[in-house]
Amino acid sequence: MNLFDRAVSLTIPLMPKPVVRYFSRKYIAGETSDEAFAVIRDLRAEGALVTLDILGEFIKTREEAERNTRDYQELLRKIVEHDLSETNVSVKLSALGLLLKDRVCLDNMRALMTTASEVDRFVRIDMEDSPCTTATLDIYRTLRSEFGPRVGVVLQSRLRRTLDDIDALTAEPSNFRLCKGIYLEPRSIAYTDPEIIRRNFTLSLERMIKQGAYVGIATHDEILVWDALELIDRHGLNREQYEFQMLLGVDEPLRRILIEAGHRLRVYVPYGEQWYAYSVRRLKENPQIAGYALKAIFKKD
Ligand SMILES: Cc1cc2nc3c(=O)[nH]c(=O)nc-3n(C[C@H](O)[C@H](O)[C@H](O)COP(=O)(O)OP(=O)(O)OC[C@H]3O[C@@H](n4cnc5c(N)ncnc54)[C@H](O)[C@@H]3O)c2cc1C
Repeated sequence: MNLFDRAVSLTIPLMPKPVVRYFSRKYIAGETSDEAFAVIRDLRAEGALVTLDILGEFIKTREEAERNTRDYQELLRKIVEHDLSETNVSVKLSALGLLLKDRVCLDNMRALMTTASEVDRFVRIDMEDSPCTTATLDIYRTLRSEFGPRVGVVLQSRLRRTLDDIDALTAEPSNFRLCKGIYLEPRSIAYTDPEIIRRNFTLSLERMIKQGAYVGIATHDEILVWDALELIDRHGLNREQYEFQMLLGVDEPLRRILIEAGHRLRVYVPYGEQWYAYSVRRLKENPQIAGYALKAIFKKD
């Protein structure tokens, strides 16, 4: 962490709420689903697809996990009411009880997947920090066997285990999002050199393509976008076999370039009442992102 990142990291919790909101407004679609749907309409007019994330904080009780599950079920129904074809949801298993005892999370995910089946929608399981990785992949595997291609998961090129996870999971047809991974992890289990994380991204992407998986290529790193385009071309993929994915508010020019070139591109749209806690936690976890946000504020487009 450089000095600037460290300074930003220490300052974030001291910032007044409106300042944090200012930092995050470009990256968060609002507090309510109605605000999020307004953002979706604009994105769809631009030719982008969308995945919606309801922002949550760490939960402590079964009741909170069940409430979050109901919120996602309601969101899926609203997506259908708004007639938003191909719009899907992204969910963090900790919000549905992954870190609680018993089988709370699996039960909640089964309920969510049942709703997703009823309304014919796809659910992506986000990947959290390394203590969650094995449990998340176990639940993905179970749901995949019960609900088929309606569920997908995320793998992170930062983790040393990812190539093995690809090999293990692609024994069945698979749907991945590949990203670098936002959580800073210890060197014993993760690459810490940005160049190796990049190389492992490209290697993982090629492995996924070769094994016939559908891949959401989630990056704003233009070198990786270039690598992905080269792999798509070399392996002769058609546009239904992959999609690019980007976060709301990040590198919109690159987003337009990819859409105009005819690729499917999905924007990750987070919203919810928990925007404040989420923003502070994310900014503290990876202060580089606060750096991006600062640059976005002071830089003229
Ligand atoms: C659609 C999507 C879903 C994701 N899901 C997960 C997940 O489930 N689990 C997980 O651990 N991580 C997830 N991530 C985050 C990901 O792991 C990276 O931390 C993040 O995308 C930054 O990596 P990068 O590949 O864009 O490369 P970087 O080198 O970090 O970024 C490349 C350039 O993009 C810009 N940029 C990148 N991120 C931001 C930002 N947040 N704000 C402003 N500018 C930015 C910067 O200009 C930077 O120079 C997701 C990312 C995307 C795009």
